[in-house]
Amino acid sequence: MMSPFTVAIDGPAAAGKGTISKAVAAHFDLAHLDTGLLYRAVGARMLSGEDPIVAAQTLVAGDLENPDLRTAEVAQSASKVAVIPEVRAALLDFQRAFARRSGGAVLDGRDIGTVICPQAEVKLFVTASPEVRAQRRLSELKERGFDTDLDTVLADVKARDDRDMNRADAPLRPAEDAVVLDTSELGIDEAVAIAVKAISAVRD
Ligand code: C5P
Repeated sequence: MMSPFTVAIDGPAAAGKGTISKAVAAHFDLAHLDTGLLYRAVGARMLSGEDPIVAAQTLVAGDLENPDLRTAEVAQSASKVAVIPEVRAALLDFQRAFARRSGGAVLDGRDIGTVICPQAEVKLFVTASPEVRAQRRLSELKERGFDTDLDTVLADVKARDDRDMNRADAPLRPAEDAVVLDTSELGIDEAVAIAVKAISAVRD
């Protein structure tokens, strides 16, 4: 059995974590888990009237296939359920097991390097200014046919940052040994190249 190799990629919404995570997982042939989807799935179930703690404790793979998980409404709901310690606790074991699976894994989220897998071999903290992130999120939402504007998206991004950074349990912050990657002025190829280099330095 291969020894575990975990790449933890944390950072605020729309900083480029998802794109970088998928690219490095493909490059190094590692499994990838977007942990935000777990919170979004719980948030979506809360929006349909369920208790979020019960939803987190009974989450099934099918919940991750809900086509509405990427909406702004579900994103806000996800960051609300993510404040609840019992919700976080219910999702912990699955994420930890995924992180240490044989063959290696990339996990992206908010607390991977600090709480889920502090022993991760590589930790990246991907960030960008709120304005740049809002602009990127706006383009993405428009491409998917959502009718919204920059002010609304910027307000959403800031509200989520505030909730994610200031919660008591597992707040969003870089691990002490994380490599901070600010993508405000970087194209995606450049950002991925820096991430690949940081991982190669440890893996190769
Ligand atoms: O990454 P994404 O934007 O899909 O995450 C949605 C929300 O889920 C975040 O705003 C955050 O509140 C929560 N989350 C979290 N911990 C993670 C991943 C996501 O609290 N590891």
